[in-house]
Amino acid sequence: MGALVNQQILLVSRPIREPRPDNFRLVRVPLLDPRQMQDGQVLVRHHFLSLDPYMRGRMDEGTSYAVPQPLDQVMLGATAGEVIASKTPEFKVGDTVVGYGGWQEYSLVDGTRPGALRKVDTTRLALSAYLGAVGMPGVAAWYGLTQIIEPKAGSTLVVSAASGAVGSVVGQLAKLRGCRVVGLAGGDHKCRFVTEELGFDACIDYKQYGDLQSLSEALQRACPKGIDACFENVGGVILDAVMQQANAFARIAVCGMIAGYNGAPQVMANPTLILVTRMKIEGFIVGDHLAMWPPALLELSELVASGQLKYRETVSHGLASAPEAFIGLLGGKNFGKQLVKLH
Ligand code: NDP
Repeated sequence: MGALVNQQILLVSRPIREPRPDNFRLVRVPLLDPRQMQDGQVLVRHHFLSLDPYMRGRMDEGTSYAVPQPLDQVMLGATAGEVIASKTPEFKVGDTVVGYGGWQEYSLVDGTRPGALRKVDTTRLALSAYLGAVGMPGVAAWYGLTQIIEPKAGSTLVVSAASGAVGSVVGQLAKLRGCRVVGLAGGDHKCRFVTEELGFDACIDYKQYGDLQSLSEALQRACPKGIDACFENVGGVILDAVMQQANAFARIAVCGMIAGYNGAPQVMANPTLILVTRMKIEGFIVGDHLAMWPPALLELSELVASGQLKYRETVSHGLASAPEAFIGLLGGKNFGKQLVKLH
């Protein structure tokens, strides 16, 4: 094992707007000989790397809710894999684990640090599910829906980026809670999946509507009783159109604003509607709510295992494919949770 090589992808320059392949560099470094590992360390071979929209924000230098990704270092990211060497009784060779190994094939982790690695059961669920519906995106969906929107049976909920990792879970959880659910997604193929496979009541292909007025009218047709709640993943004109159709005391959970991640200006067309409708708009970051992860993961894993919660994945192959796959994710090329298969 000492002669193994670890491939890594570093961020070598900060994107101006859309990331480009030359913002990243693939390097090969020798993998640490397990005989040189220190007490507490765990060596993990990654099977899957998760690509997530938040990574775009980390590539910028400015202040955000988290520190920027340092240049010339391995890109951060969640990974799922197996333990191949361990110097702690907490983990043994062959354990399947999720962690934040980054854009590389192997990671050396301090297995004694709380939360650094989590053992996962692959007898009931696929390993990759722990990066999607039963991982961070699923918990984000669960948190925004149950803790901010607090959906009521019979109410109308709209969710944007509806076919994606987060949106697909939001809509299915809301259906299970008795809501009428309307999704927004880019393209007929994604919309058909959202209604026919995931069971949403309707889905609007927002790309068919070039301006705020026509999108707002499409939402009005799909939501004849108005909008009681929105799980917002996109922002921009989609949020403006939702606000135009919002009922009094509507609730909007702001999970993401992907329409602006590559630097497009984000303005709100009519903030007066916040007052007029007395709506509640609340943003959240799932990492702030660690106490909620166990109940969320329990519900999500039960639902996936019993087939009541479906998910879809787009998998690119090999670490070298990660930059293009990530650029594609920001442009909507993914269809469901974007992963990279490494081993
Ligand atoms: P998805 O799997 O939904 O992939 C992103 C999707 O966003 C694309 O497939 C595309 O779908 C859509 N999209 C991209 N650009 C635009 C645009 N300009 N207008 C409309 N839609 C666009 O990603 P995730 O489910 O992982 O993430 C969804 C959102 O949730 C993101 O905003 C992300 O940052 C956020 N998030 C927030 C968390 C938190 O803690 N607050 C945690 C996890 C995610 P389409 O083809 O349908 O347009």
